[in-house]
Amino acid sequence: MMELLMDTTPAEKYRSNSQKARVITEQWVADNMFCPRCGSPRISHFENNKPVADFFCPVCDNQFELKSKNGASLEKVTDGAYSTMINRITSLDNPDFFFMSYSKADWSVRNFFFVPKHFFTPGIIEKRRPLSENARRAGWVGCNILLESIPATGRIPIIEHGQAIDEKEVLKKVAIAESLVVADINARGWLLDVLSCVDRIESRAFTLSEVYGFENELSAKHPANHNVRPKIRQQLQLLRDRGLIEFTRRGEYRKNG
Ligand SMILES: [Zn+2]
Repeated sequence: MMELLMDTTPAEKYRSNSQKARVITEQWVADNMFCPRCGSPRISHFENNKPVADFFCPVCDNQFELKSKNGASLEKVTDGAYSTMINRITSLDNPDFFFMSYSKADWSVRNFFFVPKHFFTPGIIEKRRPLSENARRAGWVGCNILLESIPATGRIPIIEHGQAIDEKEVLKKVAIAESLVVADINARGWLLDVLSCVDRIESRAFTLSEVYGFENELSAKHPANHNVRPKIRQQLQLLRDRGLIEFTRRGEYRKNG
């Protein structure tokens, strides 16, 4: 069983709240988290503060970065410099991510999500307003990661609303997410953007015209493309080839799983 109450003893020697939160959450991950890629029962913390990631799997070598925040919501997570994040995404120089929300009242883990690296596209990174002239780092531009803009296939819950999800279920979802790996950043953006629209259609069965309903939105995200409808149809075929949806009849589809 995964322990959802975090041990606060590692924080006793720290003064600042952000440092306390960092050591408590990192210690919890090192004590409790399995590798969602290969199922290794533990992952390891990097000895020193590595610039690229916080944890690695001793079995499959995969790397992970942890973003945690106080409170229940994980819709939007504040991160570092906007340009750094965009560079990391476009060069594919990103680890996988863990997103955690916790309750500071009792240091319990509320939500813990795994997002594989290929689900990061510029479309989910929101530019924040530059720091004002009076700020110490005037003009610096930070970013928010918009978790709700990532298709559900790529936001894999390990703990949701304070309940741990069965590990087998997690590994199965990670395998499905792997079927969406697309190396090229432009192709990846299209595929994930169309999947995200499909996610927002509530029923399992849906039609081509319902997906066309997102035409303006998709066109705004990809202004260089003037053939949005053919592009939508092509992405639906790719989603079918990768097993995420089925074609039932002409212009009609069904979500799998
Ligand atoms: Zn592993």
